[in-house]
Amino acid sequence: MPAVTADTLTLDRLPKLPDAGTVWRPVARVVTAQHFLEGEGFAVRRPFPGVDLSLADPFLLLDHMGAVEYAPGEAKGTPWHPHRGFETVTYILDGAFQHRDTHGGGGLISDGDTQWMTAGSGLQHIEQPPPELVARGGLFHGVQLWVNLPRAQKWSPPRYQDIRGRDVKLLTSDDGSSLVRVIAGSLAGHEGPGVTYTPITYLHATVAPGARLTLPWPAEFNAMVYVLSGDGHVGPDNRPLHEGQLGVFGGHKETAGALTMRAADNQPLASRQGWEVLVLGGLPIREPVARYGPFVMNTREEIVQAFEDFQAGRMGVIPADHVPHRTAADETL
Ligand code: MN
Repeated sequence: MPAVTADTLTLDRLPKLPDAGTVWRPVARVVTAQHFLEGEGFAVRRPFPGVDLSLADPFLLLDHMGAVEYAPGEAKGTPWHPHRGFETVTYILDGAFQHRDTHGGGGLISDGDTQWMTAGSGLQHIEQPPPELVARGGLFHGVQLWVNLPRAQKWSPPRYQDIRGRDVKLLTSDDGSSLVRVIAGSLAGHEGPGVTYTPITYLHATVAPGARLTLPWPAEFNAMVYVLSGDGHVGPDNRPLHEGQLGVFGGHKETAGALTMRAADNQPLASRQGWEVLVLGGLPIREPVARYGPFVMNTREEIVQAFEDFQAGRMGVIPADHVPHRTAADETL
């Protein structure tokens, strides 16, 4: 899992949070991701949406793609498909993913890069492994996160941010043992490169085996930890959290406080650098959510309108040099 690596001794350190006097947010729930097939048939693990979407607000979906070792010809992506009303954030740890949209956005992202697409008022895009990866096969590992937009910003013009791995803000824990990559938002006053409409913090941490990671966290943000690989514990009660599991912290609004987590002393071979986790949180939007497939709006009428607009060609035109094999309004991705 290369993502972006660094010598942690050279990095800015997170503040040391004393156990006495720090309110550690409790873990409210542990959710195990479910398996789904997406796009043209690639497997994802999806910890949410689950039974209670409000816990994840302002996030709508998390798809963990891989890690998978593709055989030649096996790697798959999505056909052209529309989105409206939210943002898709794709982070690639291993391998590569190619993106193109009808608003002129696009590019190739690989180890540690992020593409941030604000669908806003609506567009179409295609997300595929590059031809070399399809031909040769190889390791692929990535994550796609959906971030909701509040009513007032659902009609924002589409926007594309190409965030290179080298632009991600790198930090280390107070003891210098763990690597924290801030992709978006801020952590202890350090800003990540992603520009977001909805205030969020999104980071990827490699917690060294046996090490503890503590993070100051805004009181008004929700907070979740998702395990990409390895074993560890979250919260003051040390709830076990394994690969493919999401720990949802409670306690926001009532208390300020901080997040604590610890990597198990012994990690599986595939995660020998440490416990690989995403930590994410944001300001809940607290508006009604009407979602159907690729559209996320506030009312059912707005969903009907989205389908009409898509079918009438008002969500962009697929480039002529890009003959679509298939379009699908009803795909999730
Ligand atoms: Mn999509």
